[in-house]
Amino acid sequence: MELINDTGSLLLPFASNFNSTCSDVLTEHDALTWQLVIQAAAMTLARFISTFALAPYYVAAPILIFTWLSRSLPTYLAKREKRLPASIWTIHGKKYDLSSWAKYHPGGSLSIELGRNRDCTGLFESYHVFIERNKLYKMLARYEIKDEATSKEEQQTTIASLKTNSTGLTFGDGFHEDVKQMLRDYFMDGAKSHYMKGWCKCLWFLVFCLEIVTMFYFVKGYSLPLVVLPCLNWLLTCNVAHDGSHFAVSKKPWVNRIAQCAAMPCFFPSLCWSIQHVVQHHVYTNDEDDVDLYHFLPVCRVTRLTKFAKVFKLQWVLVFWVLPTSVGHLLFVVPMDLLSGCVDAVTGTRRYQQCENLEDLVERNQHVIWTDLLLCLSWIAVNLSYSGVMTGLWRVYVSYSLASYIFVIFTQGAHLQEKCMVGKDDPSWAKRQARTSVNFGAKSQFWNLCSGGLNLQSIHHVVPIIVAVTWWNSTPGSKKSAPSIT
Ligand SMILES: [Zn+2]
Repeated sequence: MELINDTGSLLLPFASNFNSTCSDVLTEHDALTWQLVIQAAAMTLARFISTFALAPYYVAAPILIFTWLSRSLPTYLAKREKRLPASIWTIHGKKYDLSSWAKYHPGGSLSIELGRNRDCTGLFESYHVFIERNKLYKMLARYEIKDEATSKEEQQTTIASLKTNSTGLTFGDGFHEDVKQMLRDYFMDGAKSHYMKGWCKCLWFLVFCLEIVTMFYFVKGYSLPLVVLPCLNWLLTCNVAHDGSHFAVSKKPWVNRIAQCAAMPCFFPSLCWSIQHVVQHHVYTNDEDDVDLYHFLPVCRVTRLTKFAKVFKLQWVLVFWVLPTSVGHLLFVVPMDLLSGCVDAVTGTRRYQQCENLEDLVERNQHVIWTDLLLCLSWIAVNLSYSGVMTGLWRVYVSYSLASYIFVIFTQGAHLQEKCMVGKDDPSWAKRQARTSVNFGAKSQFWNLCSGGLNLQSIHHVVPIIVAVTWWNSTPGSKKSAPSIT
């Protein structure tokens, strides 16, 4: 109970300040009952919130550690050396071997790696909006695997085992081409950059410096950073890490790669996010292959299309139940599950098994997943060593809980609603991308900055290569109205 009492005063630093101020007033002017009532109410609320939000962590963390030590670690250690298949990229039904060209790719080698040994038509179409198509196809033709080449036994086996585009949807239809043309007109004719603007880079660098200072005071045990750190880290997550993962911060690949790491320590690790968000969620939004539908199975985040459809009716209730653990799940459960490849005892599935080239991505990028994981664990370790085990854990849990609320409200709200659960009656992939997302505060610069452009999900899901924030209806000096889709 003592811990919960501390929780109340630490979670609401303003209430704590009010407490001391109030005591002085009471000493001088006798009892002011209404102040006592407000104070008691604030403390009760703080206790309730902290108990509600932190309870899942105190339950989930020991279970996670036990599961990791008893199941995941032995599986990881016993894993035999994997023989990865030959390298084939499938785009619009044609097979290419782009491995020798990956290092020359203007968007960087990671973006090419994401499409190795899978049907990457969706990725290809999402990120090649501004380049001339003929030039692109000419370049691709040089790496096409012709029929003669498939005579090799190994390559034949690989091609046969690769799935085709599982969206079953068409790309480059009238709507899709119209959206792309609209953007080309807007950005290329006006010679505007679709990457992050200079003033945004300065602003987010300042926020980053502020975050470092906040982290310092967080470790030192101050109360205010418990609230401020998740907020600052969120601004960097949605404005820098998210756009970095979509290769939209800069035309320099290494800048995007560094930007992608800005979501730590409170939100998500860099490479797991690429697999989850860029490769699966963005191509198969609210479809069976969207891994976001499986994070909390069989509890929540499902669609009417799955066998867990009954749960859909309880989405909002269940979301609030598991919500506080969301970032803990992304930061620790996902990387551990990906590294070990363990089959979940409840659902009988492996983490992100919907991803066609998961084995490739994990095996080839193990070192990055481990680095991300160790960075996040070291943040916890530093806090424990300064504040002691119980207080240190409590402080980290509070920041994770707040971060989880922010993350889920901004990211999942746009896809969880009934009207976002569309079927495949229209074969257009681009239309489906727009329809499986909802916008909010579309003309508000405030929401644009606070959500990192996620308030305009429908256009972001069709063309994620464009930096999600600030270009929309806000280009200084622009005479031309910005394009939009509804
Ligand atoms: Zn995105």
